[in-house]
Amino acid sequence: MKYAILSDIHANIDALESVLAHARTEGCEQFVCLGDVVGYNANPAECVAKIREMEMPCILGNHDEYSAKDIDLSSFNPVAAEAVEWTRQQLTPEDRQWLAALRYVRLVDSFTIVHATMDGPRQWGYVQDKMAAAASFTYQSTPICFHGHTHVPLAFMSEGGKVHGGTYNCVQVEQGKKYFINVGSVGQPRDSDPRAAYVIYDDTEKRIDLQRVEYDIESAQAKIRAAGLPDRLAERLALGR
Ligand code: ZN
Repeated sequence: MKYAILSDIHANIDALESVLAHARTEGCEQFVCLGDVVGYNANPAECVAKIREMEMPCILGNHDEYSAKDIDLSSFNPVAAEAVEWTRQQLTPEDRQWLAALRYVRLVDSFTIVHATMDGPRQWGYVQDKMAAAASFTYQSTPICFHGHTHVPLAFMSEGGKVHGGTYNCVQVEQGKKYFINVGSVGQPRDSDPRAAYVIYDDTEKRIDLQRVEYDIESAQAKIRAAGLPDRLAERLALGR
């Protein structure tokens, strides 16, 4: 079966719809979401509705948590806090309840999904190097775990206690190794490639393929500006940063 693994949609409905259409043409049958459905961009309610309607397995991201629960935002940077406040107002109490009830870690068939790290799924740490990946591997009990959070696609592999990692396009899954795969971001890529990112995992072929999809960035930017959200959030979509 082919799984489409999506993360960090961040209320970007234009990117989400383009990714879903692409995944369907690629033959994906099961869709999985690694959290941060909302935050930053202008269509949080539409993105929550889409994920709920498709009944895809989904876990909690930090922005989902900030938007769903009444957490104090005084320690946030002002741009992020403004977007969270705005997002809270866009969601119905029922949407916020749905988000608040999402778990931090889930098993989907043979693999694990987590937003940030396996060693501290509630602490929202960032896995950007082999040391951080090694800490996460300690808590990973399935051969494959998919994550997001940094918005930068990276693949880490562990074999006999040694961890390797880096950027990737395709990973062939081998027996006896563990994989901790960052699938990148659908709605706000930060690896200098503005195209939406997601992963197709084929559990028959044992292949993990990174996908990049063009979408209507100008439409997403226009919605951000019309909503009165910080202009920097629109600008960064075109830069992929
Ligand atoms: Zn995110």
